[in-house]
Amino acid sequence: MALTRRAALVGAGAAVGALGGRWMGASLPSLDGVTVISPVGGETMLNDASQLSETPIFKHVIVKEPPGDALVAALRAELKEAEAAGRPVNLAAARHSMGGQAIPRDGHAITFDYPFVSFEPGAETYTVQAGTRWHQVISALDPFGMSPKVMQSNADFGVASTFSVGAHGWPMPFGPMGSTVRSVKMVLADGSLVTASRSENADLFAAAMGGYGLIGLITELEVEAVPNQLLEPTFQTLPATDFATAFVATASGDVPMAYGRLNIDREGFFDDALLVTYRPVEGEIPPAAGSGFLSKASRAIFRAQPGNEWVKRRRWGIETGVGAMLAGASSRSSLMNEPVITLDDRDPTRTDILHEYFVAPDRFNDFIAAAKAIIPGSYQELLNITLRWVAQDPTAMLSYAPQGQRIASVLLFSQEMTARAEADMARMTQEMIEAVLAIGGSYYLPYRPHATLDQFRRCFARSAEFVALKRQVDPGLRLRNALWDKYMVEA
Ligand SMILES: Cc1cc2nc3c(=O)[nH]c(=O)nc-3n(C[C@H](O)[C@H](O)[C@H](O)COP(=O)(O)OP(=O)(O)OC[C@H]3O[C@@H](n4cnc5c(N)ncnc54)[C@H](O)[C@@H]3O)c2cc1C
Repeated sequence: MALTRRAALVGAGAAVGALGGRWMGASLPSLDGVTVISPVGGETMLNDASQLSETPIFKHVIVKEPPGDALVAALRAELKEAEAAGRPVNLAAARHSMGGQAIPRDGHAITFDYPFVSFEPGAETYTVQAGTRWHQVISALDPFGMSPKVMQSNADFGVASTFSVGAHGWPMPFGPMGSTVRSVKMVLADGSLVTASRSENADLFAAAMGGYGLIGLITELEVEAVPNQLLEPTFQTLPATDFATAFVATASGDVPMAYGRLNIDREGFFDDALLVTYRPVEGEIPPAAGSGFLSKASRAIFRAQPGNEWVKRRRWGIETGVGAMLAGASSRSSLMNEPVITLDDRDPTRTDILHEYFVAPDRFNDFIAAAKAIIPGSYQELLNITLRWVAQDPTAMLSYAPQGQRIASVLLFSQEMTARAEADMARMTQEMIEAVLAIGGSYYLPYRPHATLDQFRRCFARSAEFVALKRQVDPGLRLRNALWDKYMVEA
């Protein structure tokens, strides 16, 4: 890939060409997300990663423009047309959200498909077109020895999406990715282009961060980078009830990446924990790679888990034993460059559904007790739980960690695609949310919209303030999605 001394750009295997002193990627050959568009009975339907959100839309528009006037003009044109017809608009990237958060019912669904990263060697930040995927950011920064500061555990997602859901990752000891964003440019519902940061239009910045595209259509972001590192893992098994104390100690040490796991077989459900910490080691940093051998090799075991307690027990043994022994040093960027597809279930009768809960470290053992009491009572298949550190996020209006640091518990379930399973999942999710709210915790909004309206309002104490600001900047309610329709339209 050709690179200038000044700036880098990536185009996922696509040809790159110079324009205006920056490098821009040609458009991707196809959308690599899960935007599924299907005509049903003459209607255009749009779905998301859950495969459970099929919703009629008016049209789907793919915008292939770098940051700049043409991009802004394309968004203004969609807004104008939608306003004239009274239709909603939503802008998205990979549509891996799971409850229509990126789908405007009967409206204009816009998807960005133009990877663009601009980085000046020696700088602390880079600029991206909002729909750029993280694997494209990694490829652009890697030759300069730099790495994203915070991103999710998978690299398929869009950068503005990550900001818009308040996503976090496993780099330590940071808050959500939005804490690493210096500024965003966005087109508001009335077509005006604004810059928002902590010092300029600070209220718009706070609402757009974790604001699910309801405040403005983000066109570009300035985001912080950190030096890439060669990291080596250490694996520690411990009783689950000792995990929080060990994680707090890890967060206050000089550990750039860490995560935890709990065992999920029914016999020892949530009794044992694994703490994996990555520390810098000397050595040459290899170019960022995608999924490593262990990730690929673990797929078969991972996918054999539903309905098989023996496999679940063996998997824990392998993960804490031979898996730990085989794991070697990797670059920071390689560790985050994991595609979602690696663990894809390839089963049309089931779908993978995530839950995520955030609790203060000193309430983590109460969370374990609640999960032990509630999850085995459902017939959902829990495939995995990963534990992450999230620092306080005092900025975002819809913050899930407004009051202090949190341990995030990410639960991955395999759900049957039936009405019975959906009803069971809704019941179990509401019970989990109730238990987590009772211990001062919160839940994550990009997944299935099973929370009740009352639970949403109790969890997100500033949601009324968010709705008031949204109605002020978007009085015609042009920017809408299923999250708004279910939880905020009546506030
Ligand atoms: C396998 C998997 C692993 C995950 N791991 C993590 C994790 O480690 N940490 C974590 O925090 N989350 C994680 N998530 C959740 C994930 O971060 C969110 O679902 C995220 O939204 C996915 O990005 P996307 O590009 O698919 O977003 P989309 O679904 O496309 O969009 C999400 C939201 O952002 C808005 N949006 C997108 N682009 C713009 C824009 N340009 N301007 C304004 N609004 C915009 C959309 O309107 C929508 O409301 C994971 C999800 C999956 C499926």
